[in-house]
Amino acid sequence: METTFKNKVALVTGGASGIGRATALAFAKKGAKVAVVDWKENDEMVDLIKELGSEAIFIKCDVSKTDDVKAMVARTIAAFGRLDYAFNNAGIEGASASTQDCSEENWDKTIGVNLKGVWLCMKYEIPEILKQGKGAIVNCASVAGLVGFAGLPAYVASKHGIVGLTKTTALECATQGIRVNVVCPGVIQTPMIDRLTGKTKEGIERFKGFEPIGRFGLPEEIANAVIWMCSDEASFVTGHVMAVDGGFTAQ
Ligand code: NAD
Repeated sequence: METTFKNKVALVTGGASGIGRATALAFAKKGAKVAVVDWKENDEMVDLIKELGSEAIFIKCDVSKTDDVKAMVARTIAAFGRLDYAFNNAGIEGASASTQDCSEENWDKTIGVNLKGVWLCMKYEIPEILKQGKGAIVNCASVAGLVGFAGLPAYVASKHGIVGLTKTTALECATQGIRVNVVCPGVIQTPMIDRLTGKTKEGIERFKGFEPIGRFGLPEEIANAVIWMCSDEASFVTGHVMAVDGGFTAQ
């Protein structure tokens, strides 16, 4: 079955960089019109998607803010008239600090963007996808949604929260035509990982050491999983927690 999203509309948060960028391009390659969402201005994605023969808009939005998220969905509908798929991917790593040293500000910001942001996005996306009677949402958690990481309590709590939230929303939507799944990437070569490794030899080797497969994943390898979970090939897949992690959580 050849996946095509022709005449469909996909929304990707955190679409200006890394995993979101690769997934927005992957949706476009499959024919979808794409709403690329990010809190950082971006002037390349719309052109890149046009070069792929599809249509796109860029929406500046902080996913942790209700008014921004409402406007994000409204602008998508105003531009394209419908919403079929959403990849709720925007996230931050937050500051590294142990549970007792984590500041309240770091806790609130990390949970606010990563967990509240995914909830807010689904809250306003679902009514629009329901109008189509069929669609799919994929949320982006992490291997940190499945196992603990010393020094990242807020990030780990936010990602575990996304896993539970996804399962709950999947149950709520199960008979309504919307499948809701969550992808848990391992260590993926993106600007976020560059920040975490500091791009130092020791940092890179430490993070590579987490990966049985012996290398970092590519953003496109996460995009492939998201596209599959949105496609009709995954028509019986909902509430699923998919690790795409080079064996990270098999250890
Ligand atoms: P990235 O930093 O390259 O991209 C994240 C994008 O999200 C950026 O463009 C950023 O501006 C945007 N963003 C952040 N906060 C936002 C907000 N409040 N509103 C709108 N946009 C916002 O990082 P990435 O590695 O591509 O990460 C994407 C997702 O994948 C994140 O949720 C991250 O936690 C998750 N993840 C990444 C890895 C990895 O190894 N890179 C592993 C597991 C999970």
